[in-house]
Amino acid sequence: MKPVDALKHRFSSAKAIDEIVFRDGKWEVHATFSSRSDRCPSCNSLVSRHGWSQSRFIDTPLDGKIVHLFIKRPRFICRSCSKTLTPVVPGVVESPRVTERLVSHVRFLLWTATSLRNLASSVGALPKTISELLKRIAEEARETTSTPTELGIHVLTLHENRHLVLSNLSVGTVVDFLPSVDEQIELLIQRLIAFNKDKATQVVSVPADQEIVNVATSHCSVARIELSLSAIHTLIAGVVSKLGAQESRRGRSGSVSRGEVERLSYLRKSELSDKDVECLSDGIQEGNSFWKLFDAKELLMSRWEMAECSAWVDLFRIWLLGLPSSYQPAFHGLLLLLSKAEQLQVTLSLEPTLPFIDRNISSLKELLLKPGRSFSPEMLVALVLASPFMTVRLERKVSIKGAGRMWLEESWDIGDQRPPSSAGISLENLVNLLSSVWNPHTPDTDRK
Ligand SMILES: [Zn+2]
Repeated sequence: MKPVDALKHRFSSAKAIDEIVFRDGKWEVHATFSSRSDRCPSCNSLVSRHGWSQSRFIDTPLDGKIVHLFIKRPRFICRSCSKTLTPVVPGVVESPRVTERLVSHVRFLLWTATSLRNLASSVGALPKTISELLKRIAEEARETTSTPTELGIHVLTLHENRHLVLSNLSVGTVVDFLPSVDEQIELLIQRLIAFNKDKATQVVSVPADQEIVNVATSHCSVARIELSLSAIHTLIAGVVSKLGAQESRRGRSGSVSRGEVERLSYLRKSELSDKDVECLSDGIQEGNSFWKLFDAKELLMSRWEMAECSAWVDLFRIWLLGLPSSYQPAFHGLLLLLSKAEQLQVTLSLEPTLPFIDRNISSLKELLLKPGRSFSPEMLVALVLASPFMTVRLERKVSIKGAGRMWLEESWDIGDQRPPSSAGISLENLVNLLSSVWNPHTPDTDRK
């Protein structure tokens, strides 16, 4: 089909297409939307014609060429209350000015987009327009989720920006995403107030962050506030990694290199490979300082896992006193944080779904940090909140074994086809979808 015919077909429901022109590398479709005068929505008086207005709406590109739709429509004025109005055109969104088709298209493009600028220029819009559109998409998705009785607050740090992911702990879904912006804490407070108005939140799991602990304790009066064990583990692991690196520099950590120290510090004993477990037991026997520290961390974590919630900070104090005195100052900041949490009657969370959610968040982080992608805050919010509802059509090249350098174009649909659920979006689905889109050459999908 010729492009002009394709565009005529696309806008076949429009009553009057005035002209379709190709100008400066873009398609322009000019149409007139006539409508009879109506009654004023404010005072119900009859309105009268008051000139014409023309608005530009951005539509989905056609064969890679940008399409702009110009709609001319009458303006009306109410003589009684001086209000002016323009008729509503079906199929378009007024703010930002885009077609409904473009809204779906942007959700689709979000999967493969690399930056806001690139996403905007591919459809012939200003970045500001797309950013507004993404906020709208996120807001619509946000409205479909209901209040979790067990709320998780998690930190997702990207390029030193702290984003907050709010989850429904009982089902492992995302209920909100608060990007790193100036008013982030204000947004968090608003959400907590809204959640507690709707149906009081019973449990709130908070990250090891003083500001968030304070916000949660003062805005969720009914809830039990819990610090996530895995979040505290990350903090302790950070100190262990720093101390381990110092030891390694001084040549006191035996066979463990600095790179290994960094990798191993964040693992629990159950996550070590067989070879690492062997190194651990040899290291302890030989008095290797890094492995001794690793073992001490594991001891604390297993004590906490079995702990009575009330005495959990005491357990930490006792553990700290058992460490070599040269290590103790490094844990001082953490001790301060935990002591404050104790004063606020924050308990330790042993919620079984937490490590699972945290693991998905760190997989999401890894994906988002892949080189070549720079997601704006609006893109992140829309991606996390809304895009798993959309189907993605992907095209890729598949090599055929034994056929030399032959490539086959293949396209397939992926997506979570279920309707939006009031429990929110499964974080695991999002991570799986993103990794299949961004790493298309995984072994299990390659042709044999
Ligand atoms: Zn009126």
